[in-house]
Amino acid sequence: MHELSIMEAVRDQALEQAERHGGGRITAITLRIGSLAGVEPEALTMAFDVVMAGTTAAGARLVIEAVAAECFCAGCQAPFPAQDGVCECPRCGAISRQLLRGRELQLASLELADPAPADPTFADPASADPDPRRQDR
Ligand SMILES: [Zn+2]
Repeated sequence: MHELSIMEAVRDQALEQAERHGGGRITAITLRIGSLAGVEPEALTMAFDVVMAGTTAAGARLVIEAVAAECFCAGCQAPFPAQDGVCECPRCGAISRQLLRGRELQLASLELADPAPADPTFADPASADPDPRRQDR
């Protein structure tokens, strides 16, 4: 199962980050998942419970932050939403090869049982653009 190995990587990264913040128990893990990342959220949720068992992240909540795919049109110098991965500009009809986002599959943030300062370095600079749907706390 594809999602299982993804979750194992997420777990290792999350445990490493938690360790750096004092090794507290992880109560929630937020993943940022692009609409073109090619993973099933339900399968990820199932894999989550399996791989977190027996670690300091056992029983943690999995929060999935969906990222809608977006392409950039060089002709119009403007981004546009990429429905189902089709990068055809709605303004001029050109096919864009610049996918701005939509393939991310990354650890967005952790919630630890012990109060620890938020670490902004979790964020990928590539996705540090203003998005009203972001659920940063
Ligand atoms: Zn265009």
